[in-house]
Amino acid sequence: MAASQLHVALAGNPNCGKTTLFNLLTGQNGYVGNWPGVTVEKKEARLSSDASVIVTDLPGIYSLSPYSPEEVVSRDYLMSGEPDVVIQLLDATNLERNLYLALQVVECGLPVVVALNMADLVEKNGDKIDTDALSKRLGAPVVMISALKNTGIDELIATAKQAAGAKNAVLEHKFDSAIEDVLDKIEALLPASVPAAKRRYYAVKLFERDEAATKYVNPTKEAAATIDQIIAQCEADCDDDAESIIAGERYAVIAHIMDACVKKAPAKMSVSEKIDRVVTNRILGLPIFVLIMWAVYSIATSADAFGTAGTDWVNDCLFGDGFELFGMAFPSIPGAIEGMLAAAGASELVTSLVLDGIVAGVGAVLGFIPQMFVLFVLLSFLEDCGYLARVAFVMDRVFRRFGLSGKSFIPMLVATGCGVPGVLATKTIENEKDRRMTVITTTFIPCGAKLPVIALLMGALVGDGEAGWISPLFYFLGVAAVIVSGVMLKKTKLFAGRPTPFVMELPAYHFPSLRSWWLHIWERVSAYIKKAFTIIFASTVVVWFLMNFGVYEGAFGFLPEITGGLEEFTSYSILAMIGTAVGWIFIPLGFSSWETTAMSISGLVAKENLVGIASTILAVGDDTGLSPELWQAFGGLFPTAGAIAAFGAFNLLCAPCFAAMGTIRAQMNSAKWTAIAIGYECGFAWIVGLLINQFYLLAQGVFSLWTIVAIAVAALLLFQIFRPMPRWAWDDDRAEVKAAAGATA
Ligand code: GDP
Ligand code: MG
Repeated sequence: MAASQLHVALAGNPNCGKTTLFNLLTGQNGYVGNWPGVTVEKKEARLSSDASVIVTDLPGIYSLSPYSPEEVVSRDYLMSGEPDVVIQLLDATNLERNLYLALQVVECGLPVVVALNMADLVEKNGDKIDTDALSKRLGAPVVMISALKNTGIDELIATAKQAAGAKNAVLEHKFDSAIEDVLDKIEALLPASVPAAKRRYYAVKLFERDEAATKYVNPTKEAAATIDQIIAQCEADCDDDAESIIAGERYAVIAHIMDACVKKAPAKMSVSEKIDRVVTNRILGLPIFVLIMWAVYSIATSADAFGTAGTDWVNDCLFGDGFELFGMAFPSIPGAIEGMLAAAGASELVTSLVLDGIVAGVGAVLGFIPQMFVLFVLLSFLEDCGYLARVAFVMDRVFRRFGLSGKSFIPMLVATGCGVPGVLATKTIENEKDRRMTVITTTFIPCGAKLPVIALLMGALVGDGEAGWISPLFYFLGVAAVIVSGVMLKKTKLFAGRPTPFVMELPAYHFPSLRSWWLHIWERVSAYIKKAFTIIFASTVVVWFLMNFGVYEGAFGFLPEITGGLEEFTSYSILAMIGTAVGWIFIPLGFSSWETTAMSISGLVAKENLVGIASTILAVGDDTGLSPELWQAFGGLFPTAGAIAAFGAFNLLCAPCFAAMGTIRAQMNSAKWTAIAIGYECGFAWIVGLLINQFYLLAQGVFSLWTIVAIAVAALLLFQIFRPMPRWAWDDDRAEVKAAAGATA
């Protein structure tokens, strides 16, 4: 470590504002999630005002026990010797709860500065916190700040720098003297290698029988035996287990601190609580969520709204007929490029590649930027203001009824932005079966990149944005797929088990800081733009090549030339061959042309690619971009509206993009489980497509062998959904009891 560098660790409970503070201090735009554990890994960046200071944002935790991945990451880092000072962040509106972790961090023996965050809210509540008294009791400087309103930050940094120099923090809070005696005895038995400042921390950990800490300290055999005796004696005296004894002591200390340092304003119901009475209401909670998401998707995709107006302008003007500004006529982008190519004397091949391939494909994807923007303006607002945290809470009640944990819904809320962080957010689910199940089902939720696909489908189904109500249906199709899959999978041996309990602090509602709101929007929109110029760009080139080259009358070459300008030249292309070879899989779903097959495959690379490739495939000889013409051409590939819906359902539910599949692979950390995940997603998507198409046909009076298959499959699904939870499914509790009984017998 370079002597001039200072490492500052940010520790605190979930939702106490660590990420907000981290972003403020470092100018980063990390994810401010309103749920626990979106940050499982620690994050590092330099202080914007002083590059010699390195700040580390630790995952939010409630305790320094070793039970969750977040706790392990945080305490390993605190004990690693790297941090010079810890900023222990507390949500001052929730002091009592937050002090539980703060006490433990103070016990770590590192220089600590306690930052009381949300000063703005404390002031509003009228609570009075005596920071001097608190500082004395905790043995650490205390600074009031507001990360959101940027107050007290300079003082916090100055205090942290000062504290980093001061070695030998003295522990001020004491447990009951009997317990202190026991801890002293254990301290004395620790090997000399444990440094003075950390002896108390390890004494407590050994007393709690914390295996990781014991392994690390590695006491001699005799010492370990003596310690065991001491603990057993103390447990007998207190008639409680060691961990609970320590927890009880901490609560006692906290009660004293609260008494001495905090004057609560007379309780009145806060605005947040009033809103929550309605929003998280048992009966109203779910319909309100449905209405809100409905509105979000309708606004982002409906005709009158800004989103579509923007998209239309981009499509019609930039990529369509050109536009007029201040009385000057501008050509469209394709028009301008066409002009340039013609002036440069480009060949037919180059012109085709650039215009029909790249410009059509990338242009179609870029055309969605305004809609993406509106979608993320709305989603980020819902998240930053604190609403989505409530949704997790509301959904917990729904999920629990089906034996699922509400914890599984958090990754799904994240996945509404992008599946990659969604899958990553599953890390916080401790129960392995639940975690795997969540990884598998999370990407059913439509991410931002699926929005263009939904819009394309909507256009093909009902024409120009007349029916904005269709797009929310695809969102709820995703939610339904998650719930139905969860219910079915929970009744299989692979995923059975009781739901894990779900606890979460709900932050008070507030207007998002414009900065974090904007960063949030920009993070997603810029990723989308970047993808358009990289992955989508490359894909359109590849697809253009596959579609324009092929074999005609025994010769391989550039089809528009070797077919002598045959209108249907693409049916001789390599892409047509590949599409035809694979397309039969989709016959029962009602779409099996090589074009739709190629689009589905391209969607596996990136979902918005499907729209780019549709535009490339259908725009041959014509530079329409995303437009009513494209919708019509696209719709023309399908025999019925049912087939279009089946195509949509299949593509929105099947395996996600490459990036998300890679993340699934990393999360599962097993080839077998990755295969199960991708296989289940594709299989489930195929079945939903089958049901939609066949039942649509049946309603039209068309009956075939596939109708029988569809009815049989539907019956099986309904059976698996509605049969009671099998007896063995929640047997693991009993199995444990039996194992314990066997061990003592
Ligand atoms: P983390 O889980 O500790 O990383 O917490 P976040 O940084 O994600 O913050 C949780 C929520 O509290 C977010 O909605 C923030 O906007 C909000 N928040 C953070 N600091 C403050 C503050 O000082 N005052 C208020 N009113 N809200 C804050
Ligand atoms: Mg955070």
